[in-house]
Amino acid sequence: MNGYGGMILRVNLTDRTIRKEATPRELVERFLGGRGFGIYFLYTEVPRGADPLGPENKLIVSSGPLSGTLVPGAGKMDFTCKSPLTGGYASASVGGMLTAELKYAGYDSIIIEGASATPLYLFIDDETVELRDASEFWGQGSITLEKKLKDALGEDFQIATIGPGGENLVKYACITHDFGRQAGRGGVGAVMGSKKLKAIAVRGTKSIPIADVEGYRAKAKEMYAACKASEGFEVWRKYGTSGVNTWANEVGAFPVRNFQSGAIEGYESLSGETMRQKIVLTDKACFGCPSPCGKYSHSKKYDIRVEGPEYETAALLGGNVALLDIEDVAYANWLCDELGLDIISTGNCIGFAMECFERGIITAKDADGLELKWGDADVVFALIEKIAKREGIGAILAEGVKHASQVWGQGSEEFAIQVKGMEMSGYESRNAPAMLLSYMTCDVGAHHNRSWAITYDIQVGRDKVSPDKAAKVIELQHIRPLFDCLGACRLQWVELGLDLGHYAPILKAITGVDRSWEDLLKISERVWNLTRMYWVREVEGFGREWDMPPARVWKEPVASGPTEGKLIAREDVDRLLDMYYEQRGWDSNGIPTKEKLEELGLTDIVAI
Ligand code: SF4
Repeated sequence: MNGYGGMILRVNLTDRTIRKEATPRELVERFLGGRGFGIYFLYTEVPRGADPLGPENKLIVSSGPLSGTLVPGAGKMDFTCKSPLTGGYASASVGGMLTAELKYAGYDSIIIEGASATPLYLFIDDETVELRDASEFWGQGSITLEKKLKDALGEDFQIATIGPGGENLVKYACITHDFGRQAGRGGVGAVMGSKKLKAIAVRGTKSIPIADVEGYRAKAKEMYAACKASEGFEVWRKYGTSGVNTWANEVGAFPVRNFQSGAIEGYESLSGETMRQKIVLTDKACFGCPSPCGKYSHSKKYDIRVEGPEYETAALLGGNVALLDIEDVAYANWLCDELGLDIISTGNCIGFAMECFERGIITAKDADGLELKWGDADVVFALIEKIAKREGIGAILAEGVKHASQVWGQGSEEFAIQVKGMEMSGYESRNAPAMLLSYMTCDVGAHHNRSWAITYDIQVGRDKVSPDKAAKVIELQHIRPLFDCLGACRLQWVELGLDLGHYAPILKAITGVDRSWEDLLKISERVWNLTRMYWVREVEGFGREWDMPPARVWKEPVASGPTEGKLIAREDVDRLLDMYYEQRGWDSNGIPTKEKLEELGLTDIVAI
């Protein structure tokens, strides 16, 4: 099949069997690849009610039809499983080099099943696929192990690892690749840890079959040239996402002290300019990317090298815990990478604990003797380590903020910043209804990358609660996740303004299948609705209540900064959901209707 590796690799860790199956053409037609394949296999193969950390759960690793091609940023892949953090759908995307290598080895997906009793790693060298003993690696940090495996196997192997956080089943443990790229959200690393799979190492040497080689080359060249000619290219290359730090403070969107405020005094010390001046060594890109947003940095203070800190890190391990020294943030970043923890959830958990301490809900006695004071770097570092080891207070925080608020009570659930059990990424959104709706309706929990709608709020009016905002969120929720089906980065479009009109023609040149952009968006909508039905199937009573944000957004105004005093009325939160459900063709409880499922051709699957 043009554009695809052509095989699905099925690896059972219980009986250590390895099977190769042809990638079904029907699957490609209906779900395209990447997260589309992920949800299909999750929905159809993992039994209802499976324990996310039990052998019945599967970890599905998928590339897409653009992965490993000349399309700018064709280095994205998806990890899908049932989430141990939320009990619903988890899909985490990661850049780097692994997706290209997997395609070159001839595989579109790896379906990891069962669980081993002893640590293993998966070795893939084209046709050679082996499960190898990883006992000696158990307990090692992600970055340390990646280097070790590259030294042992060869620089041309691409590696994904888990750290102690994944081994210890921290509910938001991540999978690390390419020395600091993360499949971060939803606990995909804990699922890998529950299977005792420490790492995946892949080398591929084959080529991807292309339908129209000349047309593909010409289009790819055109796309590269457009990226390089973009007005935003130089700034993006220089600062990557850290360029957002200053802007977020200036518009009051930066999460500060557990999302109490939207800006912090002294934020200049976390700006992209400060970072570039003080710690950045070089730029770092994923496979085939003309616009390297990764910044590889060195902290002299701690003598560590780390990829980052990118925006979310500055937001959640900077503003949200009130750390203002970029080197402290870089070290916290490095600790999370090495220990294998999702930075967004970790920063939320620490910020939440600090606010509970500030309010007297917990004391040093509850925190292993630590005074959880805002801006204390040593406390932040200690908590990160405790979470990864599940030690003392870390055992509570390792379960996420929703759980911690249930343990500590006293109204703390109102400021446990999460939706569906997943901690919110780095945009304070009490005065940004479209962004808030993005978090409320995101298919994995409160994550920003499906719909980054805050710029739309600013463009059309931040106080406005109107149907166009719901429409914008839905539009973005189809475009952005489509890139995760295609196996390519969306940032060339978002940041460099690369015309979306390029993608259908180049996909046609690669696969030989003629699909319009609207056809592709329909596939994305199909995937979105199937993920929603997964929640409906797995979570008893699932519906509108699960889309609600924490009560802080309507009870407590923004404490300071440009949006000081702002909040959103509870009725407006409900109105946003009403508008969104109606436009999606869902019922008033947020469940896709029979008509919608029929329209999307999903009734055969959801009947399973
Ligand atoms: Fe990777 Fe950044 Fe390039 Fe996207 S823009 S492909 S995330 S380096």
